[in-house]
Amino acid sequence: MFRRIGDKIVCYARRKSPWILHFDTGGCNGCAIETFAVLTPRYDIERFGGLSKANPRHSDILIISGAVTKKIESRLRRVYEQTPEPKAVIAVGSCAISKGVFHDAYNISGPLDRIMPVDVYVPGCPPKPEAILQGLLKALDVWRERYKI
Ligand code: SF4
Repeated sequence: MFRRIGDKIVCYARRKSPWILHFDTGGCNGCAIETFAVLTPRYDIERFGGLSKANPRHSDILIISGAVTKKIESRLRRVYEQTPEPKAVIAVGSCAISKGVFHDAYNISGPLDRIMPVDVYVPGCPPKPEAILQGLLKALDVWRERYKI
C-alpha cells in the first residue's frame, strides 16, 4: 500500500507514537472502566509513546468496547471512516467481539467485526487492563507486519 519512502517514515513514527481513541458503545460500561484505567498513568501507555485523543481524525488506533447497538452503528462507521490510514482497531470485551450477554437483545446490531475490520480481539467480561495493554502492543505488531516497518 505504501510505495514512497516518506510514507514508510510516517508509518514508523506513528508506530512509535500511536494516538488512541477509545469509543465505548454502551453495554454495562465495565470494559470502558478497564480501558480508562489503561489510559491513566497507572498503566503508563506513554512509555510506548501512546496518547489518548478525543478526535478520530487525529487517531491511529481505535479501542472499541461495549455492545454495538442499532443506534450507535452509523456513528461507529463514521468514526472509522474519519480515522486516517494506517489505522488499527481493537475490540475489547465479549460484547464487542460476540455481543456477549446482549446476544439476543432486540436493539443489538451485531458484533463489531460486522461493522468494521477488527485487527485485535481482547476477550473477557471485562478483560483486565493488562490484557487490554497487551492488545495494544499486538496492534502495533499488526502495523509492523502489514506495512513491513
Ligand atoms: S463485555 Fe462484560 S464488562 Fe464488557 S461491556 Fe459487555 S457485559 Fe460489560
